[in-house]
Amino acid sequence: KEGGGALRPGASAFAHGFSSASAPNSHSQRLAGKVAVITGGASGIGKATAAEFVRNGARVIIADVQDDLGRAAAAELGAARYTRCDVTDEAQVAAAVDLAVELHGRLDVMFNNAGIAGDLSPTPLGSIDMGDFDHVMAVNLRGVVAGVKHAARVMVPRCSGSIICTASTAAVLGGVVAAPVYPVSKAAVAGLVRATAGELARSGVRINAVSPHAVPTPLMMDTMALWYPGMGGEELRRIVEKELNEMVGHVLEAEDIARAVLYLASDDAKYVNGQNLVVDGGFTVNKQLNLLPAAGR
Ligand code: NAD
Repeated sequence: KEGGGALRPGASAFAHGFSSASAPNSHSQRLAGKVAVITGGASGIGKATAAEFVRNGARVIIADVQDDLGRAAAAELGAARYTRCDVTDEAQVAAAVDLAVELHGRLDVMFNNAGIAGDLSPTPLGSIDMGDFDHVMAVNLRGVVAGVKHAARVMVPRCSGSIICTASTAAVLGGVVAAPVYPVSKAAVAGLVRATAGELARSGVRINAVSPHAVPTPLMMDTMALWYPGMGGEELRRIVEKELNEMVGHVLEAEDIARAVLYLASDDAKYVNGQNLVVDGGFTVNKQLNLLPAAGR
């Protein structure tokens, strides 16, 4: 199961402290000394978050199924280790959590972020493919439940920890994508966070969701290519950055989500629990306002 290979030079130092390459050197080390597991950390939002966490002094386990990308990301970051972890297999999720404890003696942050879009081609309800439903749920929901379960297993006895789960604006907006399976899986993630926050709070552990809007990661761009067949990558990116974006002057990047996750992971959010932090430039609230003719847009 272990896909990470040998630790980088200097890693034995970071198992007990920090290697010189990753030594805390500024006041912005908001995760100094903390240990994190990030599922889906080889690409997109997870990869950007791994980089943000390492910049802020954390040691990170990147848990993914894309071995080459995961190893390369870990090597680039230094204070990171890759492990192969298919989140649909509870034993592999448990092993990723145990690896953090074995290497560093603790787990402070669990970012349950691995996700897939499934079949997002426009599908009438009467034609939903139940096999696709099961697969999307296995990754996007069951995988997150396993992550919450095993993070709680090691965090609760220490009365400390922050769990973050990636939902989506699709969890908030009905009908924002062409088929219902993905939004259902993400609404369930937001529900899972609400359903578990009370029990975890009584053990000093926090759990929150982050809900990104459209970020041009491989997952999003593959979906766009499906929705707009024949259109080039540049044009698809323009649609994501302009037409799916409410905010003039900014585009949503994976790093914006990473910084929101950093906040939830850090002690700055020590009393924030059971919430869904929607990072969408106001897209979800504006879409509701736009239903009113007097909204003036
Ligand atoms: P991405 O494709 O760049 O990254 C997803 C990662 O998850 C990949 O590295 C992939 O290998 C990994 N993964 C997939 N199945 C896995 C499995 N069974 N076990 C372990 N890892 C697995 O896409 P992304 O946009 O960075 O997606 C990250 C999360 O953000 C997902 O949960 C996605 O649903 C969510 N999200 C993305 C957007 C967006 O617009 N990009 C918007 C809202 C929510």
